Amino acid sequence: MNTIENWQKSRVNLVTRKSTAELKEIGEELNSRAFLIAKLTQANLIDDFRFVADDYAAGKITMTEAQERFKEIGGNSPDEIARNLAARSRATAVLNTQRQIARGVGEWQVWMETKDDLPYVIYHANKDGFVRPSHAALDGKIFSKDDPFLQTHMPGKWDYNCRCWGEQITAKRAEKLGGAQKFRKAEYDAESGFMFNPANAFRENDVTQLKDRPEVVRSMEQSVRAGKIRKIGLIVESPKQAHPRAALNGLGRMTDAMRKIQPVAEESVDKAQWDPKRQPGYERQDKKFKENNPEERTKIPKKIQDDFPAEIEVGKISAQTCSDAGFGSDPIPVTLEFGDQKASYGLTHNWQHHKEVFADPAEGERILQATLGNPKAQTTVTLEKTEDGVRKIITFFDPKTKSYCVARYDEKTKKFQLMSWHRSPASYGENQWEISGGRVLDRERQKEYWKERHEKK
Ligand SMILES: [Zn+2]
Repeated sequence: MNTIENWQKSRVNLVTRKSTAELKEIGEELNSRAFLIAKLTQANLIDDFRFVADDYAAGKITMTEAQERFKEIGGNSPDEIARNLAARSRATAVLNTQRQIARGVGEWQVWMETKDDLPYVIYHANKDGFVRPSHAALDGKIFSKDDPFLQTHMPGKWDYNCRCWGEQITAKRAEKLGGAQKFRKAEYDAESGFMFNPANAFRENDVTQLKDRPEVVRSMEQSVRAGKIRKIGLIVESPKQAHPRAALNGLGRMTDAMRKIQPVAEESVDKAQWDPKRQPGYERQDKKFKENNPEERTKIPKKIQDDFPAEIEVGKISAQTCSDAGFGSDPIPVTLEFGDQKASYGLTHNWQHHKEVFADPAEGERILQATLGNPKAQTTVTLEKTEDGVRKIITFFDPKTKSYCVARYDEKTKKFQLMSWHRSPASYGENQWEISGGRVLDRERQKEYWKERHEKK
């Protein structure tokens, strides 16, 4: 496998509703390490688009073939963004950008390999009437290959449809031409917000080895910890990475335990006059409990607590999945526990938010098999900044049956604790996978937006 293919394989998928300009805030690191189509919110489609774009970028198929395949994937999709992508002009733009990025990665590696003999690069801009002033300003400038400015302004790669190119030169020639330049980054940023730093595609200090998936997750975790990103969802496994996500040795035990508490739950639900089959969804459930059984709306019946074992190990998340998701290389137990007062996980969480899971234990078993037990589930890791660290949530989604299983990682016990398992439309997952910007929090941006609108009126 060549450099470009290696790098393509190592990327993670990102789903975002943000525009390219808004993504600028997240930083160039992400742009060079993730396959990202701005505003595509359909997580299960992104992978299909990605495989086509990768094939095109690696030169395996022609532009016409790639456009045709984009049309097949998105042409009839109910998702508007997917349909837009299938349109020729948008497909061309996305494919060109992906190829430009892939070529940047390949060329950067060559530059690093030849650094001893050719440590400098002359920046050449196209001197025709179409060249952008910010690109023309760099024409003839000399950069050291170690200059971070060059990494973010690689000729031909740092902006959409950039036609600039770099010429590698010796130290002697660089000196003769007046030596290397130094620029401050901000003056020359691409107006479009496009950012690409090929150096990020590689390990620091070792350009022959590529960043792998767990490393990307860990690096994102650091960015979240440092407050650069507030929340980010990374798709770390797609249906194409087919292997069991978890061994479910304790699933029968869990179903038995759920069966045991089911009659008590049913009593409470009947008292609320709520029927999960006829009145699905959290809001209706909540309304019925408020009206008819307020005591047990958030407070789990005591009998359930008495009858439920302290902890059930449902199974173990596979070593492969743990590794892809950045949790080390050993299988990690996934447990169902009673949960906590704040109800962020376990049985108490489900009682507050998903009472339907108590109604039919056999259905619960089917959902866990379709997610945790499914070799074609989509695995997502969500990292979110908290007051004292980073909250890590793993989500398994089966696009076929629209089933979800969500678990949180407990740093203390080194276990995944089940939060919920249910069937929901794909839009449920978009929340988990959405990226939120760093410096400006979403809420503040929203406030600004409404303020502006108000002032305009
Ligand atoms: Zn250019």
